[in-house]
Amino acid sequence: MSDRVINFNPGPATLPLSVLETVKNELLNYHDEGMSIMEMSHRSKTFDNLVIETGALVREIMGFSDNYQTLFLQGGATAQFAAIPLNFSMEGKYGEYVDTGSWSKKAIAEVEKLDKPFRVVATSKDDNYKYIPTDFRIGEDAAYFHITSNNTIFGTQWQQYPNSGDVPMVADMSSDFYCRQFDLHQFGLIYAGAQKNAGPSGITIVLIRKDLLQRSPENIPTILNYQIFAGKNSLYNTPNTFGVYLVNLVMHWIKSQGGIKVIEETNRRKAKLLYDQLDSSDFYKPHARKEDRSIMNITWRLPSEDVEKKFISEAIENGLVGLKGHRSVGGLRASIYNAMTIEGVQALVDFMKEFEKKNG
Ligand code: PMP
Repeated sequence: MSDRVINFNPGPATLPLSVLETVKNELLNYHDEGMSIMEMSHRSKTFDNLVIETGALVREIMGFSDNYQTLFLQGGATAQFAAIPLNFSMEGKYGEYVDTGSWSKKAIAEVEKLDKPFRVVATSKDDNYKYIPTDFRIGEDAAYFHITSNNTIFGTQWQQYPNSGDVPMVADMSSDFYCRQFDLHQFGLIYAGAQKNAGPSGITIVLIRKDLLQRSPENIPTILNYQIFAGKNSLYNTPNTFGVYLVNLVMHWIKSQGGIKVIEETNRRKAKLLYDQLDSSDFYKPHARKEDRSIMNITWRLPSEDVEKKFISEAIENGLVGLKGHRSVGGLRASIYNAMTIEGVQALVDFMKEFEKKNG
C-alpha cells in the first residue's frame, strides 16, 4: 500500500499491516455475528471467548505458566503507577524503584502521593539518563522492586534484569513489551500500555503472578484492584473491547512470524542497522551509552538544532515520519517496535547516508 508512510512514532505506533487488513475485512461483520466487535456486548459468549483466548495467547507466546494471570485494564500504564503501590504495599516494607528517567519518575511520583513507604535505590539522573544504573542493592524489606524495562524517551533498555531474589520484580514494559525473550521467573508483575508493541491505546496488558493477588486490600478503588479484575477475568466493568480484539490479532501476528525468538532476531537486526549508521561517523551523536542501548527507541542528536529541524522536515518529504525526539533529550528518535519492518529501517538508514553527504 504505497500511500502509507514509514511510521517511527513512539506510541501510538505503527501496527502490522496484515493486522490492519484483518480489521478492515472484519469491521462490519465480525465472525458472522452481523455486527462489528465494537458493537457487541462485552457479556456475550463471543466476546468472553475472545478475552479468554487473548489472555491465554499473551501467556503462551512468552511462556508464562498458569501461575500467572493476564489482565486487560484501562487508564494506560499511568494507572498502573498508582495501582502497584495500592495493591502491593505491605506493612513495614518498602516499594523500591530504580529511576531511569521520565517514566520511572512518574511511577515514583504516584507512590509518593499515595504516602506509601518507598525508596529510590538508584538513579541515572547524573548523566541525563544515558545509562541503566547497576550499583544498588534490593532490600530484604522490599515489598516489591520496580523498574522501567525500556525508557522510551532516552532510548535506554535493561540488557539484563537484576536478581531480585524473593522480592517480586515489577516492570513497566510499555515500550519493549514482547520485543525479546527474557527470564520470567522473577517477575511478580509486568505491565504495558498496548499502543507501542501490542495494539491500540486505551488498553493495558498486565501479567500478574497469582499468589500476589492476595495482597490487594479491600479498601482501594475497585477500578485499580487486581484481585477484583482477576476474579472477573478483566470483565468487572466494560473493557476496551476493540483493544482486546486488536491485542488478539497482534498476538496471532507474533505467532505467524515464528514467535518471540524470531521477533527478537529481527528486532536486533533492525537496531544494528541503525546503530551501525549512527556509529559510522561523528555527524550523528547517539544519546544512550552503548552498553545500555534500546533496540526499540533509538535516540540521537545532530550538530545543531537547525540541522535537526532540517533532518525532520526532509525525512517527512521522504515518507519517514515520527522522528522528532522528546523535548527532554531533543534531537531525533526512531521508534522501531515489532511492527516496523527491516525495509522501513533500511529506508531511514539510506536517507541518513544521503543527508549526511549533503549536510555533513
Ligand atoms: N511507561 C512508558 C515506558 C511509556 O513509554 C509510557 C508512554 N509513552 C508510559 C509509561 C505511559 O503510558 P500511558 O500513556 O499508556 O499511560
